[in-house]
Amino acid sequence: MSFKPANNIQDLQYFGEFGGVNPSISDSSTYTFLSAKTMFDTFEGNADGCYLYSRHSSPSNLYLGEALAAMEGTETANVSASGMGAITPVLMQLCGASDHIISSRTIYGGTYAFLKNFMPRFDIKTSFVDITKLDAVEAAITKTTKVIFCESVSNPLLEVADIKGLADIAKRHNLKLVVDNTFSPLSISPAILGADIVIHSLTKFINGSSDTVGGVVCGTQEFINNLRNVNDGASMLLGSTMDSMRAASILKNLRTLHIRMQQHSKNGLFLANKFEADGLKTVYPGLKSHPSHDLFKSMMNIQYGFGGMLTIDVGSSEKANQLMELMQNRNLGYLAVSLGFYKTLFSAPGSSTSSEIPEDEQKEMGLSDGLIRFSIGLDADIERTYQMMRQCMEELNILNTKKEISKSL
Ligand SMILES: *Cc1c(COP(=O)(O)O)cnc(C)c1O
Repeated sequence: MSFKPANNIQDLQYFGEFGGVNPSISDSSTYTFLSAKTMFDTFEGNADGCYLYSRHSSPSNLYLGEALAAMEGTETANVSASGMGAITPVLMQLCGASDHIISSRTIYGGTYAFLKNFMPRFDIKTSFVDITKLDAVEAAITKTTKVIFCESVSNPLLEVADIKGLADIAKRHNLKLVVDNTFSPLSISPAILGADIVIHSLTKFINGSSDTVGGVVCGTQEFINNLRNVNDGASMLLGSTMDSMRAASILKNLRTLHIRMQQHSKNGLFLANKFEADGLKTVYPGLKSHPSHDLFKSMMNIQYGFGGMLTIDVGSSEKANQLMELMQNRNLGYLAVSLGFYKTLFSAPGSSTSSEIPEDEQKEMGLSDGLIRFSIGLDADIERTYQMMRQCMEELNILNTKKEISKSL
């Protein structure tokens, strides 16, 4: 694929108003006007380059939004105070009472809870499907369906969505395909593959320093204008605005995203190969054993790799907890939710980030008790990390040779 997301970010040229190579931070909630008429036009959205009030827009938020739109290849973007603050207004903008959504059943726990428990208050129902089965997606479409929602690489099971295939279905049935690309920035460019709207939690890889929450919606000018409409725009009226200081800080971190993603991916692939060779049940899109390995390859911007997320299954929640505690004691990472940090982060999704999903549904989708989700860090010496992780597993009898033998038989 010839789409070059990192080039697109770097090719944007803008200076602060005093010529600073890094844009000045606009630390103002409201803006003065030299003429009263310009104020009226700005409120109506007809005065380009003017700012009225920072919940509507601010220079710092626009700089960050334009860089993220360039990355995703969309016309424009709107940043928000969190990933959930991006996802929820999009779905509420696209759906009204009695509408229907089709969603992947393996998604971020907060998104799942919103669709399952909150949207029914507005009589908006969601069918949760196995997103890897295009015929199941199409079969779930009803007369009232408005949206297909998925994650490019799903949380926490790392299922891969066939974005071209889903976009085809969406176009044929006049639906919007909304893709949460939080797990695979730069690697996958959903809008280029046909998605209508691309969302990120900036909290994760894009910011990458675990010091803030943030989100973005990338889409057409028309859709972003709708979200920001002062009369009926869900982002405008629900009010999850990003603070300018945070926008400036995230933009600085975005400058190194391409280098970081390459290192996350390199380390992720290295560990996944080693864990699998050791006989651990390992899920990583870069492994040939991943059911959607070829699909991921066909969609990816190759130089950014298969990402930093992998899971292993160590058999029981007890073993998972022991292993995570031991790894943290040996300074191999932190027992923490979230992802994209320079240190490896690990958690057991069944009892943390996916605990919103009822136990029987967790079982059905293959989310087992012994599952550990890793966000692999930027470790400079990943071989050393592996040796130390292996040592932890050996001490806890997680790597038993019996497993290896039965696997080779
Ligand atoms: C974290 C996350 C979200 C929610 O983002 P917040 O910034 O925590 O609101 C949504 N989707 C995915 C895939 C995530 O990992």
